Amino acid sequence: MDKIDRPDLDTLNSLSTLADNWETWGQEYKLYLDSDKREGIGWSWRQYIYTDLRKELSDLTYEHCSFCDGYPFDMSKETIEHYKPKNDFPLLAYKWNNLFYCCDTCQKEANKLPFENTIKPDHNDYNFDKIFYVDLGDFKIKVLETLEDADHSLFLKAEAFLIRYGINIPSRITRRRNNYRDLKNYFKSEYGATDARIRNDFPFRYLYDELIRLS
Ligand SMILES: [Zn+2]
Repeated sequence: MDKIDRPDLDTLNSLSTLADNWETWGQEYKLYLDSDKREGIGWSWRQYIYTDLRKELSDLTYEHCSFCDGYPFDMSKETIEHYKPKNDFPLLAYKWNNLFYCCDTCQKEANKLPFENTIKPDHNDYNFDKIFYVDLGDFKIKVLETLEDADHSLFLKAEAFLIRYGINIPSRITRRRNNYRDLKNYFKSEYGATDARIRNDFPFRYLYDELIRLS
């Protein structure tokens, strides 16, 4: 749920194959989906780009899930999520801006629902603190109530984001609550010590920010 600053694809040497081919690959995938017998080239990450792509995407989030900010992925597989699903938007199947480092829980939740426009964490104007807050009473992530009138379309997109990626499913509320307790203990005992860990060492970095605000 952190803001993602995504560089232009052209600036990433390791992904030059993707930069050169993403449009063609998308067209080929669309032809495959459109053909009656699913002839042609079906879905796969082409020319071994998966490893480099995952590395570039996970570097952008310091290996946190782009959507829930989970980290590390000890309880989840790493995946690359198509923000716009590849079967509905085949031309975007290899498009850099459509691809996000993602945990498999977020991916599974997103796959349950038809696509709907949500906020995107790599959008220029995205800022967690201006859209969401964590309610320390029930540990749900909520959309700022003031946004409902101030920017109704953003409010709806933010609500859609929470639902789409299952941000408030019970297992996550439990993890968030436990992480907050651990983080609080850490702050009490170690904060300011020479071996102080940094923000990116923790999952759900908005909890870290919240504790900094409260301290
Ligand atoms: Zn996730």
